[in-house]
Amino acid sequence: MKKVTVAKGDGIGPEIMEATLDIIMAAGAQIEIEEIEVGEKVYLSGNTAGIAKESWDVIRRNKVFLKAPITTPQGGGYKSLNVTTRKFLGLYANVRPCASFHPFVQTKHPVMDVVIIRENEEDLYAGIEHQQTDEVVQCLKLISRPGCEKIVRYAFEYARQYGRKKVTCFTKDNIMKQTDGLFHKVFDEIAAEYPEIENEHWIIDIGAAKMADTPEAFDVIVMPNLYGDILSDVAAQIAGSVGLAGSSNIGEECAMFEAIHGSAPRRAGQNMANPSGLLQGAVMMLTHIGQTEVAEKVQNAWLKTIEDGIHTYDLYKEETSSRLVGTKEFAQAVIANLGQQPQKLPPVNYAKDKAITLPRYKRKSPAAKELTGVDLFVHWPGTDADELAGKVTAIAQDGIQLTMITNRGIKVWPEGFRETFCTDHWRCRFKRTDGGVLSKKEIIGLLESAESHNLDIIKTENLYKFDGKDVYSLGQGQ
Ligand code: NAD
Repeated sequence: MKKVTVAKGDGIGPEIMEATLDIIMAAGAQIEIEEIEVGEKVYLSGNTAGIAKESWDVIRRNKVFLKAPITTPQGGGYKSLNVTTRKFLGLYANVRPCASFHPFVQTKHPVMDVVIIRENEEDLYAGIEHQQTDEVVQCLKLISRPGCEKIVRYAFEYARQYGRKKVTCFTKDNIMKQTDGLFHKVFDEIAAEYPEIENEHWIIDIGAAKMADTPEAFDVIVMPNLYGDILSDVAAQIAGSVGLAGSSNIGEECAMFEAIHGSAPRRAGQNMANPSGLLQGAVMMLTHIGQTEVAEKVQNAWLKTIEDGIHTYDLYKEETSSRLVGTKEFAQAVIANLGQQPQKLPPVNYAKDKAITLPRYKRKSPAAKELTGVDLFVHWPGTDADELAGKVTAIAQDGIQLTMITNRGIKVWPEGFRETFCTDHWRCRFKRTDGGVLSKKEIIGLLESAESHNLDIIKTENLYKFDGKDVYSLGQGQ
């Protein structure tokens, strides 16, 4: 008997959770449920995290968490419980299978069967944001080598386990050469370890367009957090309905399973919602805890129910459905089909499936790191880059010179364009005239000099060579 933490959530959450649990228990799931309260009530009681400390203890003890959607109250100060849970528990892989069930669920993409594997802990979701000047705010995009290695390896291991033929990587590394560039580089490195699986990389914009238009061209797609968040909803929606897709959030110790949709408050308490998304999450959970026979039984009964045309309102169409049902009746229909196989849709076979575990990330030996310059970011309300260059040159120390000024990344000095629009946020790059190494003391000297010249430095960014290679972006147009 495996102990599982369950949260019934908000809105349609309690109804779809009840339906899901009824189905998996009827199928013989060997689980003991420990329920916790998370979400709206907890938020509104004054807890901005939406979860009590004791509930964390339960989640960490049981290690497996089945969570219904929750409502994050409007207004400032409330932290997303999903993001916090994924990051606190190290749930680095978010797996979202998006398949169409043609002709039983209407879709423009009858042969779609895509699995989106989304990095779940970093990228812009680090949530590190600052206002720096009157006009400019900043969000840090953090991409790490361990983060990339774990998610990319997970994608290839997933493909291997589920007999998938191809893993595609989506990034925007033509623009973000360091962050997305690292993701792409790691993808190429790890892909080479799986020669039996085809691999390819697409720039995210055209890749996303292709996926929305021709999803059958893709199999497993791995991508950084933000892109994965957006594109997995697109994929679920074009497969038929966001109400159909479940997701797993996998970490080295813990895992969380859920529907991809939200709490649909307008549908709450009306016995209308489709429990399929959460049920798909529960099927992934059963596989994860080794109860593959139960998972298979549930999935085949569910496929049979969909194929029989027994549909909730979100899927119901006169041409493809036979009966419009509520949440409870849908669950009863799936239960009645337990032990049966779908006749037209391919039945699933999970006998060989198991939780995917990766070797722990081992930190690599450090590279030779040399400090070769510094970017000073200046809050300055003027508009003429030459005028700023004059002021900033005055703070330069012996042997250190101003080499460039950019505004929102585009070079505006030397030889900027009059047409370039400038904000009050300027990056001033300093390097040694001889191209040599800089000391931290010299940077402090620059900052002290800036202070005495009344220049408002809002942050600095060190420029490094790692193993002899410059690892920072040039100014656009440089
Ligand atoms: P939503 O996913 O709740 O609803 C979007 C649309 O899909 C609505 O029209 C809804 O009626 C429909 N829908 C969603 N699930 C359905 C189902 N199972 N059956 C039938 N129809 C379904 O998104 P939203 O309206 O943007 O957000 C509502 C609340 O959910 C917000 O408070 C949001 O913060 C929260 N949310 C929670 C999660 C989560 O807990 N994982 C995820 C997304 C949104």
